[in-house]
Amino acid sequence: MCVHNSMISDEKTILCDKKANGKVQPWREKKTANVNYFELLQILKFKKAERVSQCGEILEFDVTQEGRMKLAKTWFCKSPLCPMCNWRKTMKRSVQTTKIVEEVIRQKPRARWLFLTLSVKNVFDGDQLDKSLKEMAIGFNRLMKYKKVAKNMIGFMRSTEITVNEKDGSYNQHMHVLLCVESTYFKNDDNYLSQEDWTKLWQKAMKLDYTPVVHIEAVKNKKRNKKSEYTAIQAAVQETAKYSVKDSDYLTGNVVNDLEVVKDLEKGLFRKRMIAYGGLLKQVHKELNLDDIEDGDLVRVDEDSDTEEKAYSIVAQWNWNLKNYYI
Ligand SMILES: [Zn+2]
Repeated sequence: MCVHNSMISDEKTILCDKKANGKVQPWREKKTANVNYFELLQILKFKKAERVSQCGEILEFDVTQEGRMKLAKTWFCKSPLCPMCNWRKTMKRSVQTTKIVEEVIRQKPRARWLFLTLSVKNVFDGDQLDKSLKEMAIGFNRLMKYKKVAKNMIGFMRSTEITVNEKDGSYNQHMHVLLCVESTYFKNDDNYLSQEDWTKLWQKAMKLDYTPVVHIEAVKNKKRNKKSEYTAIQAAVQETAKYSVKDSDYLTGNVVNDLEVVKDLEKGLFRKRMIAYGGLLKQVHKELNLDDIEDGDLVRVDEDSDTEEKAYSIVAQWNWNLKNYYI
């Protein structure tokens, strides 16, 4: 932990990037996880291993007069399982989606928000995961086009999450969807869709011969005021914006297991779009000129201190022996 902006150790200064709210940014923790991930890729003889090892190796920060730091320059590998990149991506998703949702609420103040979870049966290897994720993306588009769904739909944000089942080594792939619907959705039985209705529609869209697990809930406006509704929507945004796969699921320290899981996940996640907007949310994303949430810039992820003037720059470099960033 660092008390001040930096701490002196062994005549070197350890990087300490502290936000205005006092939160220390987890650079060391994320780089350590990135190194663990790199080591697995190296054993698996992935060509990209070398690139992954260079992710965030040198960080250049702009520092304000008050000592506040802002990442100005670095290189990120963008490998789908990289813990460093996923940390940046999650921040970016959260900031972008918050902006989009605020604008959609401004344009459609009477709209209602729903939180939908769609899942399918667990799979057991990388090939099955690859196939299942492709089918889910197609099935989701089909679901959104059904008349019953489309008629009240304003827009959505969907994100795919994969969890690893420790007991049997299987994977569960499911989608978290934040839906924005017209208030007429709740008006009568012709418009309203129950959990059973959603389940049937998802089963049909996915052409499944079993009943899938589907969950739908309204983002609740308990106190019936705009502020509490907004807080509830924010919580749903955070839930939708989170990691596609938790790094603790494939960096457990059990190398034999981790190698197997990384191999399967690399296969499954290859060229998949894990997050997508639709309808008005997609349109607003465009209007606000936000860059691609999956392939965009990961250096500037939280635009809040752009007004502050840069006083000087510092460069921190990852020290492979001491396993920390030094300035
Ligand atoms: Zn990376």
